[in-house]
Amino acid sequence: MADAEQKRPTLTTSAGAPVGDNQHSITVGRRGPLLLQDYQLIEKLTHQNRERIPERVVHAKGWGAFGTFTVTGDITKYTNAKIFSAIGKQTDLLLRFSTVAGEQGAADAERDVRGFSLKFYTEEGNWDLVGNNTPVFFVRDPRKFPDFIRTQKRHPRTNMRSPTAMWDFWSLEPQSMHQIMILFSDRGLPVGPQYMNGYGSHTYSFWNDAGERYYVKFHFKTQQGHRHYTNEEAGEVIGKSRESYQEELYGTIHRGDFPKWKMFVQVMPESAIGDHWYNPFDLTKVWPHGDYPLIEVGEFELNRNPDNYFAQVEQAAFSPSNVVRGISFSPDKMLQARIFSYADAHRHRLGTHYEALPVNQPKCPVHTYHKDGMMRFMEDKNDWPDAYYEPNSFGGPVEDPRYKEPPLHVEGEAWHWDHSEGNDDFRQPRDLWNLFDEGQKDRTAGNFAAAMHGIPQFIIDRQMGHFEQVDPKLAERIRDKLAHLSKDQEKQETQKDMDRMALADAAAK
Ligand code: NDP
Repeated sequence: MADAEQKRPTLTTSAGAPVGDNQHSITVGRRGPLLLQDYQLIEKLTHQNRERIPERVVHAKGWGAFGTFTVTGDITKYTNAKIFSAIGKQTDLLLRFSTVAGEQGAADAERDVRGFSLKFYTEEGNWDLVGNNTPVFFVRDPRKFPDFIRTQKRHPRTNMRSPTAMWDFWSLEPQSMHQIMILFSDRGLPVGPQYMNGYGSHTYSFWNDAGERYYVKFHFKTQQGHRHYTNEEAGEVIGKSRESYQEELYGTIHRGDFPKWKMFVQVMPESAIGDHWYNPFDLTKVWPHGDYPLIEVGEFELNRNPDNYFAQVEQAAFSPSNVVRGISFSPDKMLQARIFSYADAHRHRLGTHYEALPVNQPKCPVHTYHKDGMMRFMEDKNDWPDAYYEPNSFGGPVEDPRYKEPPLHVEGEAWHWDHSEGNDDFRQPRDLWNLFDEGQKDRTAGNFAAAMHGIPQFIIDRQMGHFEQVDPKLAERIRDKLAHLSKDQEKQETQKDMDRMALADAAAK
């Protein structure tokens, strides 16, 4: 519709007052100066100054969309969570994908682990499953997490990313071998968010009406097939677009071509936790499918792009502490730390009442006795104005024992236990290496070599010792690739020297 025919709304200030002139500041005469009383100008400038909030320290760069989850398999014998209560039941969700290391402006097509964070808006509260596109993680003890993340971020002096720091840490922490085997394989660089799996990664638990607890792992398998870039392809993509994931995800949903994932669980009875050579709560380990087969639970599609990226993706606050009846935690050390630290990060980034923001707001009634604080914008629309503490005699909300979780069985002495003792960090990376076909073996070894090339030799030597333990053939391939890279570099340097000499000769003549 042409401008002239269109009935457009009147521009207002944030207090709702209609604005008479949005083109010119109030000046004394045509040349200025301005008047401090031009509050509309001041409102505009001060709002702009406050448009940014701290970006996430990790997983800063993200892409998100809304969707629908549908139950296809019956798991009610394991859990009384309402979301799984009937075949065909649907629940709204939000999914935010991300990279781990890059800042908000980082290019999308970089080799990195991807975040895969789900918020299910269930009728009994929000359930957040804050996972990754890998089933394991680099470390199993949260005491190491800030140090690990530091190696992925910028060097304090050079302000550049440092492969030396990354490999120094990984070579000193062989527990990271499983995760780096995935990261440097084909799946470490997906073409777009819809071409990768998601995993809850941690061990969680289910509980049912009989008070029984089962340990559980969550898996989300892409229905679009796995698609990956090689390093060379990704270099070309980044040369053309830094936003390739945003384009992929936004574009496919905009076209109505909704991406889908199937959801599966692996379920371990509480009585079986001591039955394995691995600790089932160790985040560097998977539960082999042969021991615990995948049970189909449901599927979801992403079918709605956000209307406003900042409000609905940047302000989306996922936390493993958001569980609902029938779903709970496990002794997994990393999970235990994330239960605290994710909600803490949101309080810091978004403020005390972050869960009342529309994107984070549950779709069921919320009744708490929390009180005031910054941005306390919720109104008290209830029938119990005198009940502002608990217990009270004035009709305020009360607990319901039906929601009380069964006891978690734990035992042992509290100490700084060394989790690497007797822990085989190489067996599962070896299982994965053995799954790769020749092409993937070659590309993975090449990716390792390319990433290590140029770092100090003593770190390479230490890391090669770990590769040897996975499989001497893997170590041999990486050594060959490193030797080739060094030869290529030598050749380039010789060529450069010859060019320099030729130039010097020409200048002398
Ligand atoms: P299975 O053969 O039963 O399962 C192999 C799993 O590996 C499948 O889930 C498959 O995912 C996935 N996979 C295949 N290629 C890659 C790759 N390049 N990077 C990451 N994952 C890949 O064997 P196991 O259960 O005994 O596991 C063997 C190894 O597979 C493990 O040590 C682990 O490294 C890896 N893996 C295991 C998972 C598990 O939960 N057991 C989950 C993911 C990986 P898909 O079906 O989507 O192709």
